[in-house]
Amino acid sequence: MKVLVLEHSRLFQKMLTELLEELGCEVDCVRSGAEGMENLKEEQHYNLILAGQHIFDESGMDFADCCRSKQVSCPIILLTSEPNEALLKNAYSAGITDIFPKTNFTYLRESLRYYIEGQTAVDIEGGRVLYVEDSRSVAHVVIGYLNKINLDVTHFTNAESALESVLNENYDLVITDVMLDGTMSGVALVRMIRANSSHISEIPILAMTGHDDPKRRIELYHAGINDYVTKPPIEEELAARVYNLITNKRLLDQVREQQKSLYEMAMKDQLTTCHNRHSLAEHANKYIHDAIKYKSPLAMMILDLDHFKEVNDQHGHTTGDIVLSNIGELLMACCKQGDFIARIGGEEFAIMLPHYTASTAMEKAEEIRSIIELRKPAGLVVTASIGVACLSKKHDGNYDRLYKDADQAVYMSKENGRNCISFYDDEVMINKTSAAGN
Ligand code: GH3
Ligand code: MG
Ligand code: MG
Ligand code: MG
Repeated sequence: MKVLVLEHSRLFQKMLTELLEELGCEVDCVRSGAEGMENLKEEQHYNLILAGQHIFDESGMDFADCCRSKQVSCPIILLTSEPNEALLKNAYSAGITDIFPKTNFTYLRESLRYYIEGQTAVDIEGGRVLYVEDSRSVAHVVIGYLNKINLDVTHFTNAESALESVLNENYDLVITDVMLDGTMSGVALVRMIRANSSHISEIPILAMTGHDDPKRRIELYHAGINDYVTKPPIEEELAARVYNLITNKRLLDQVREQQKSLYEMAMKDQLTTCHNRHSLAEHANKYIHDAIKYKSPLAMMILDLDHFKEVNDQHGHTTGDIVLSNIGELLMACCKQGDFIARIGGEEFAIMLPHYTASTAMEKAEEIRSIIELRKPAGLVVTASIGVACLSKKHDGNYDRLYKDADQAVYMSKENGRNCISFYDDEVMINKTSAAGN
C-alpha cells in the first residue's frame, strides 16, 4: 500500500512514517500542499493520503481543491489536533474521507492500523464458492472478482443443479441470483438449503439481484440469506461482504470444533482414554431409558483392582499409571460397540452392558477377570474384583440404585478374597470365586 503524508512537522512525519512502514506501507512525505500537488501529478498510484490540517491553510488550498475536483480517487484522511464543526464540514465538502484526531498518538496509531489492515485484509486464504447465475456475462465478471480474492468458484445457471451440488460438496459460501433458468428460483434454493437437516443448512448465503426492491430483499432475508448485494456488484463491496461471510463461518466452525474437543476432554479420562465418571452419569440414563422402552436387559459391571496401593508403593506411581492405562485398553478391546466403559475412580472402572442378562454379564465378567489376571500389565500380576447387577423393576429406572447394587457386588467380591466376580440382586446374592483364586 502506497501512502502520501502531507505534514508540516518533521517529528510527526517521522512518527507516521515509522508506523506506516511497520504496517507494510510505502511512504512519501511532503510538507506543503504545493509539494503534495507535485507528487500527485507525478505519482497517480497512492492508495491513501494522510493530510495535516494545514491543507486548508492558504498554501494547501490548491491541494484541497484538487481533492474536491476528484482528481484524487484514493481515500484522504485528515489528521487534526483541534476538530471543530466548521473544519469537519469544510473537510467533508472537500472530499475528505475521514478525520482522525492526532492529539493521542496511541489512539491514532490504532485507528490507522485498523484502517490499513481493513483495506488490505481481503485475503481469504482460499475457499470454495457455489455461485448460481443464469446470465453468462454477469457470471464472467463476478467469477473474475472472486478468483482475484483466491476463491475457487463452481458456477451453475439453475438452482436445481446448484442444490444437488451443495448437498454433495463442501462449500464455504453460496452466492445466488434470484431469477434463474429452470423452475426453481434463488429464493426457493435458499429455503431448500435452510430446510436441510444437516450442517449444510448453516452455510452462509449471499443473494445477488438486479432489482433493489425492499419487498424482495425482506423476502430473501426471511428465506434465510445472510447478506444481499445488487447487480452489477462493485468489486470491493462484493469482496468485503464475501470476506465477512466466510470469516464468520470459519470462526463459527472453529468455535464448534473447540466446543467439541472441550466436551470430549470433559467427558474422557485422560490417562486411559475411557469415558469418565461424569460421562457415565450423563449416558447411563439413556441406557436405562432404552432398556425399559425396548424391554431389553441391561447389566452394569464395576471392577476394582486388587491391592493397587501396593503396585504404587512397590513399583512407583508411573508404573501404576501404565497398569491403569493398560487395563483401560484391555477393557475397551474386550467390549463391543455399544458397551460403555468408564474409569470412575483411581483404580475403578464401570461398564454398562446393554442386552446382557445376569448370566451373560457374569460370563463377560469372568472373561474380563481372567484376561486381567493373565495380561500382566507392566510385567506385574494384577487382579480385579468385579461386581455385576442387572436392571430390574425394583430399581424403578434409577441409575443410582443400579450403581449401588453393582458396587455392593464388588464389595462381596472383596469380602470373598478378591480376584473374583459377584452378582448382587436384592437379598439373592450369588458369588462365584475365580478358578485361579483362593
Ligand atoms: P483393594 O484391593 O481393597 O481395592 O485395595 P487397593 O489398594 O486397590 O485400594 P485403595 O482404595 O486402598 O487404594 C487405591 C489406590 O489406587 C490408592 C492410590 O494410590 C491408587 N491410585 C488412585 N488413582 C491413581 C492414579 O491415577 N494413578 C496411580 N498410579 N495410582 C492411583
Ligand atoms: Mg437471473
Ligand atoms: Mg477402589
Ligand atoms: Mg482397589
